[in-house]
Amino acid sequence: MKTPGQMLTVTDHNRSFSSLTYVYPVVSRRAGGVSVGINLNPNNACNWHCAYCQVPGLVRGAAPEIDMALLDAELRGFLAELCNGRFMEEHVPPDVRVIRDIAFSGNGEPTSSKAFDEIVERVIAARDEAGLAAVPVRLITNGSLIDRPYVQAALKRLALAGGEVWFKFDAGTADDIQRINGIDVDPRTHARRLALCMSLCPTWVQTCVFAWDGVLPSQDLIGNYLAMLEYALQQARKNDPSAGLKGVLLYGVARPSYQPEAVHLQRLTPEELDAIASQIRDRLQGKGLTVTVSP
Ligand code: SF4
Repeated sequence: MKTPGQMLTVTDHNRSFSSLTYVYPVVSRRAGGVSVGINLNPNNACNWHCAYCQVPGLVRGAAPEIDMALLDAELRGFLAELCNGRFMEEHVPPDVRVIRDIAFSGNGEPTSSKAFDEIVERVIAARDEAGLAAVPVRLITNGSLIDRPYVQAALKRLALAGGEVWFKFDAGTADDIQRINGIDVDPRTHARRLALCMSLCPTWVQTCVFAWDGVLPSQDLIGNYLAMLEYALQQARKNDPSAGLKGVLLYGVARPSYQPEAVHLQRLTPEELDAIASQIRDRLQGKGLTVTVSP
């Protein structure tokens, strides 16, 4: 924990201040309050390698075996501290003294833990027993493992508990995905994963945009991204005509990447981000999507 008097800030995503292994608090500009983060990847392992990733020492791999008793104890202890202790008063600025969410958002892909469904069940139980049933549980995911039955079971569980998914979707061609996310995948495969996700749990797409070597995202890149998003919506509606996305969370690179690709990336201005958001709104108008922007 931080020493009394220190405030968590929007730039403070350093999880090492806490002695906890799996649980960390953060004031999130995207969530708009205190987010209780759950990091299932203390080994800094992810199956993707995004150019903008802020995980130091990122390695390819999966989550390690999770110590369930420790995770339970950390989460229950920290929720009790937030509700009844002095943490809020001592560490959080007055205007954001609210628990916005409990978020699976760690140093790697959370669904790579084979115990993910059981973990979701435990987290929801801890939340409810703390009297925080109204606090949403969010899964921040690259969506790559959604074909696994235990991930689908977890998403259904999340939906029943009022949760939602933030699904990473940055580009619409294999080349752009390779460059941005460091992964070799057919974009239609990823779009179908998104469609499946939508059918299981309320879903937002999260999209990171930036300039690369001084060049803004091209009209081709944006057009291919939008086409693939539309394909995902069509796929979702083939099975369930009412299926839909809640919206698109468009964000910039507010904090520096810890990857070697960081040298290529430059932050967009708020105006440049807004222009891209307008294009998304125009193209997807009438499909009930909200587009939000976080510079
Ligand atoms: S999916 Fe997330 S944790 Fe994995 S490399 Fe990309 S940004 Fe980093």
